[in-house]
Amino acid sequence: MYRIRATTVVRRASRAVPRIPFHAIITRPYFQQSRFYLHIALGRGAARISLPPGVIVGVLRRWIVSPAFYRNIGLISAAAGGIYLCNLEQVPMTGRWRFNIISSSIEQKLGVVGVEQVRQEYGEQFIPEDDPRVRTVKNVLAKLLPYAEGEFLKDMNWEVIVIECLDNNTFVYPGGKIFFNTGLLALCKDEDDVAVILGHEIAHIVARHSAERLSQGFLVSLILLSLSLFDTSLPSWKYLINRFLRMPASRMQEAEADYIGLMMMTQGCYKPQTAIDFWARMKEMQSQQPTQLLDTHPSHHDREENFREWLPEAMEKAQASECSGTS
Ligand SMILES: [Zn+2]
Repeated sequence: MYRIRATTVVRRASRAVPRIPFHAIITRPYFQQSRFYLHIALGRGAARISLPPGVIVGVLRRWIVSPAFYRNIGLISAAAGGIYLCNLEQVPMTGRWRFNIISSSIEQKLGVVGVEQVRQEYGEQFIPEDDPRVRTVKNVLAKLLPYAEGEFLKDMNWEVIVIECLDNNTFVYPGGKIFFNTGLLALCKDEDDVAVILGHEIAHIVARHSAERLSQGFLVSLILLSLSLFDTSLPSWKYLINRFLRMPASRMQEAEADYIGLMMMTQGCYKPQTAIDFWARMKEMQSQQPTQLLDTHPSHHDREENFREWLPEAMEKAQASECSGTS
């Protein structure tokens, strides 16, 4: 997802397109409450699995005081470690190892649900295909896609849809549907700027970041459930997990998407220097951005610096791609 905060707040002429949540969250994890919900949020849709808390917690507490508790904990830990190791995989184009238990087909099915929600709510704001702005972004998408790497990408149904909306935002769903607001498009000076943004969105699909977030959500759910057995303060734990696990993980994914996008745009013969210039401009425009520790995205300053650091590698790729005119 691309999100830009600008100093100039543009007057909204139409309904804003919100960022669509695509992650697993626990909404009511307290067994003191009447029911325990594992709540999987996808856009406005939600699937709830209701579990009777008294039964579960009662069984688990009896288990804790049983003689076999420590032996069982050892076996469970060994099994959990095995499951974790068996589900480690490398991210295409960066080689980073990560835990993922969500298959590509499940991820894409979830993406279809999200795309349908966007269509229902904002379909009237979709810009027609013959609009020059749509043709521009489609042209850039076509130039970048050949450089997206990943075996599962052959199943993608790529499409970029431009939404008449002044929010500086763009987002993508598993399956390859990218939504690009006109507000953000207006900040792009040329196709190279569009390539910076589209490369980033394609990269989220290449790296399967949605599946990774869902997998992390599963792990966090297990951790919180375990903590609930010991009467620990769950709100505090949730805060700590958000601050020191989820937000850093989100920023890492955003930076990874920036990196992959930069490499793709360079191979597609767009100027890598553009990414630095683009984020320098956004930094100038930004008003008060939250400190990075409390945010899900890297600061504009950090993005600019990251691109500056990756530029030599991108230039090497440009030379290997024999892109004439890339500087
Ligand atoms: Zn992003």
